[in-house]
Amino acid sequence: MVVKVLLAILTAPWVLLWSGLRMITTTIGLPGRFQAMNAGTLFCPDGHANPVMGRWTCSCGANYIGHAFAPCPICRMPAGWVRCECCSLAIRSPWKTS
Ligand SMILES: [Zn+2]
Ligand SMILES: [Zn+2]
Repeated sequence: MVVKVLLAILTAPWVLLWSGLRMITTTIGLPGRFQAMNAGTLFCPDGHANPVMGRWTCSCGANYIGHAFAPCPICRMPAGWVRCECCSLAIRSPWKTS
């Protein structure tokens, strides 16, 4: 009984903090972006799955292998978008802010 009460007291602030944080991130629309940043798969606007790791061609002309939105090893510019392998629609980088 005492243990239960103690546990409730100890966990309550964290639960509150967590739900508060969740509310903030939901209102500013972060979860989707954050999930997209950590996902192993990218989804095009039409719903096709594309791997984030692969071969990419930078706008500077360099081909490189690795994460879709990692900086290019030549010009250091991260890709703003990648083309869907299935339908060629542009998949916007979750890191792109503008
Ligand atoms: Zn480049
Ligand atoms: Zn597609």
